[in-house]
Amino acid sequence: MDLTKLNKAQLDAVETLDGNLLILAGAGSGKTRVITYRIAYLIEKGVLPSRILALTFTNKAAREMRERLEDLLDKRDTFMWIGTFHSMCLRILRSNIDKLNYEKDFVIYDTYDQNVLVKECMKAEGISDKIKPSFFISKISELKNTLKPIDLNDEVKADKTMTQIVKVYQRYQSRLFSNNALDFDDIILCTIRLLQEFSEVREFYQEKFLHVLVDEYQDTNYPQYVLIKLLSGKYHNLCVVGDDDQSIYTWRGADIRNILEFEKDQKDTKVIKLEQNYRSTETILNAAHDVIAHNIGRMDKKLWTKNGKGEAVCIKKLYSEKDEGIWVAKEIAGLIRNQGYCANDIAVLYRANAQSRAIEDAFVLNDVGYRVYGGMKFYDRREIKDLLSYLRVISNTGDNVSLKRIINVPKRGIGAKTIEKLEEYAEHTGKSIYEYLLQEPLTEISTKQRATLKHFIEMMETFRSMTLLLPLDELIVNVLNNTGYVAELKAEMTEEANNRLENLNEFLSVAKDFYENKEAEEGLSDFLANISLVTDQEEEDGEGKISLMTLHSAKGLEFEVVFMVGMEDGIFPVAGAVYNEMQLEEERRLCYVGMTRAKQLLYLSYATTRTLYGKTDFKILSRFVKDIDKKYLVGDLEDAYVKKETASLYEKYREKYKLQVRSKSEEEGTNEIQEISLGSKVRHKVFGAGTVVAQEKGVYTIVFDTKGIKKIDTKYVQLEVIELKF
Ligand code: ATP
Ligand code: MG
Repeated sequence: MDLTKLNKAQLDAVETLDGNLLILAGAGSGKTRVITYRIAYLIEKGVLPSRILALTFTNKAAREMRERLEDLLDKRDTFMWIGTFHSMCLRILRSNIDKLNYEKDFVIYDTYDQNVLVKECMKAEGISDKIKPSFFISKISELKNTLKPIDLNDEVKADKTMTQIVKVYQRYQSRLFSNNALDFDDIILCTIRLLQEFSEVREFYQEKFLHVLVDEYQDTNYPQYVLIKLLSGKYHNLCVVGDDDQSIYTWRGADIRNILEFEKDQKDTKVIKLEQNYRSTETILNAAHDVIAHNIGRMDKKLWTKNGKGEAVCIKKLYSEKDEGIWVAKEIAGLIRNQGYCANDIAVLYRANAQSRAIEDAFVLNDVGYRVYGGMKFYDRREIKDLLSYLRVISNTGDNVSLKRIINVPKRGIGAKTIEKLEEYAEHTGKSIYEYLLQEPLTEISTKQRATLKHFIEMMETFRSMTLLLPLDELIVNVLNNTGYVAELKAEMTEEANNRLENLNEFLSVAKDFYENKEAEEGLSDFLANISLVTDQEEEDGEGKISLMTLHSAKGLEFEVVFMVGMEDGIFPVAGAVYNEMQLEEERRLCYVGMTRAKQLLYLSYATTRTLYGKTDFKILSRFVKDIDKKYLVGDLEDAYVKKETASLYEKYREKYKLQVRSKSEEEGTNEIQEISLGSKVRHKVFGAGTVVAQEKGVYTIVFDTKGIKKIDTKYVQLEVIELKF
């Protein structure tokens, strides 16, 4: 093994084999590299691979570590335990959980199942269904992760809410148990119980794991900390690596104290600091440091690099998220064509999953191959597929596959058996299910179901007649409301359901956009065809493709070129963080993570209007960008000099003129006159973009970019403001 590829501090970390080791270092300083080399070195020194446990943050990271080890060792080893906390625990549980009286084929409940269960428990406790189950779910998780026994003691009884929480918790836990199910917290907690309560289990694993290594240690929570302490409890060869500046999961219970107190807590800990960064240029590193330096609760450390100054960080201002997507696509095409980068070198990072849609659309349009990591592709999401299935049936009654998907969504009491029967009959008569339902009396189906099916078909027929009369987005709003789809999601009142609603709203933006820019003859089927172009792009293989992912999923990765899009206050940092210092610090760390993914080039872009979740809003440049010294930046810098305080001025201005453009559904029924200053750029549904040149009593004279001069009465037609003239 070639140890010359390590610097002095790294070598020290790799060669210190006995005792606890804490490696505390900034981004790109080789922490993950040290872990990988250390494992290889251990094996070379004769440690059996089966006696090594390495914990990473994601399965992807585990895979990559395995691959790097193969290269270092020139062979594949399957005895090593390299994986995430959860995958490691599942392995231990599968062979031992019977000791806790669970069956070995236990199941794991995800958020959706948890919701169902908590709802049942709330009902049994007589708790109003106005309280969200997600409230109880997060409280239960908090309680569990304290690792303290939970009971109805006097202190709890004195607090009504606490009493309810504890009661629901106890009921929930016993129902989980009777369903032979574990939730995600239980996976860790049951493993801890096994190790604490059963000495033979503890001794077995403590003996087995001579060495325990943990990457991304800053994002572990308290139970995970207890777990690794237990596992390394015999040999005390625990090596953890982390960076307090990259802790981005405190909202999920990650505890930064785990890293700050490790030294005190674990006796004879050796601490190694790595200060040389091998990943990024000096400029990128300094710019990222300017951002993170604003956090108060951090250990001050600054990285240096020999990589040279490099290019300035590019700031780009755009009018809309659509323009942003197109700009990124074009810029990437240039990088590949003229600068010798390949697609694998490039990543586009964003704060929220829903932001990927605008980027994906632009990429498809411009023929840029991409792959979305983590989080599903927008058009693959369940709610979007359901909606698309409705639209497909409305557009084409022969589509059995889509019909079968939605005939009982939301639930109408039409079971799988009935659907099977229908399909059989339809096939017999040579018709599609839909057409069969339209014409045939269904003698062999119960009266109740027959009535339901009749109602369903009538509803669908109404939608079909609407396609000729209504704009596309209005048709969709009708489908979502009249089928009861939205009502069902709203009633759920969970985080997940809210997400789905947001995605549906986002889909409305797509439809609206299509309708506004369509050719005269184009209708629903053209819209659907357009979308399948987007969906047909999917392939599992990420080779030769641009990576799209959220900032959270980019942790630990690196790319030659990084685009961070949506650098706007309210998007990144997220709106809630603007007035919450703790949350703002976490957002700042996330920004630091994002920026330090870049090796050569870093682009930060923002749009002055953004339509997200079906709502259009004005946006200003993210405060994080304003924190960067201008000497590290090029491009559209005028807003980078605007002081942060102007944000509130802007809010006032916006309030005064009520220029916030509302989503279509909210807009219905209002006929307020819009106030738009002369010279502003606006967009009209049919005529496209134009400039306001005159105004009288809400009637605007607009010079359209392609359709000439027209007068528009905003009492009847709302204009979308693209750029406001102050
Ligand atoms: P992060 O905090 O983002 O997880 P990290 O500290 O884990 O970063 P690594 O991913 O291990 O950093 O290393 C960053 C890059 O620097 C990698 O491409 C790695 O191969 C390279 N690198 C690390 N140490 C050296 C070294 N001594 N010589 C050359 N390249 C190095
Ligand atoms: Mg790393």
